Amino acid sequence: MAAGGAATAFAGTDQVKHWLGWDRPPLGGGYASAADNLGAVAHGGVKIHYFQPTAEKVVALTFDDGPLPDYTPRFLDALDTAQVPATFFLVGSHLEEHADLVRGRLDRHEVGNHSWSHDDLATLDLDGARRELERTHEAIKRHLGREVTVMRPPYGHLGGSTVLAADTMGYDIALWSHQMHERNFADDPAGQARNLIETVRPGSIVLAHDAGDKRRLIALNSLPAMIAGLKTRGYEFVTLSELWRSK
Ligand SMILES: [Zn+2]
Repeated sequence: MAAGGAATAFAGTDQVKHWLGWDRPPLGGGYASAADNLGAVAHGGVKIHYFQPTAEKVVALTFDDGPLPDYTPRFLDALDTAQVPATFFLVGSHLEEHADLVRGRLDRHEVGNHSWSHDDLATLDLDGARRELERTHEAIKRHLGREVTVMRPPYGHLGGSTVLAADTMGYDIALWSHQMHERNFADDPAGQARNLIETVRPGSIVLAHDAGDKRRLIALNSLPAMIAGLKTRGYEFVTLSELWRSK
């Protein structure tokens, strides 16, 4: 508490947030090193993908945080219209409540694990991170009949406990190389589309969200133009598993 008081007295809000906020490990422990529990080691390492070096013009679209009622069906509609696959990183608690939104609609798509509650897994110990992932793994199996093999940590935050939990479960970890910048392109879906058309390279992984506040509609509204533009440049859209098989 003393540190917090001093920080509040002497620093600006941003700095205090950086010292004490959710992007820092908790002062009282919980941030596990990867191999502090050798009983949990299955492979001694995990693959962390953020880009696929390849000569093939392939790109993977990924959508996080669904399924939620307002946007997920609209993103699925847009992808159906364009007939392109994507990878959806589902939040387990959202799936539990809204499985009907995605059941039977993910045939061309891949599904990944984005934790149960969208907590910052880097602030949890091994048991906590595992619970988040296992509960979601089971929900995806139960509702969608899929055996998931890839996770993306909320906020892209990786702690040792998350890496170890992924190892235990035989998961790969997926981050990203490009993302939709909804804030920079507010009310400018064409600009967002252009930005990605110009910056995507063979093997890129694009992060977007099919849930959240109204700004996320920029992602939705830019999708048709972005897909068309990249197709014109010779790109093929693939799931993450397909991306990783590209040479
Ligand atoms: Zn997320």
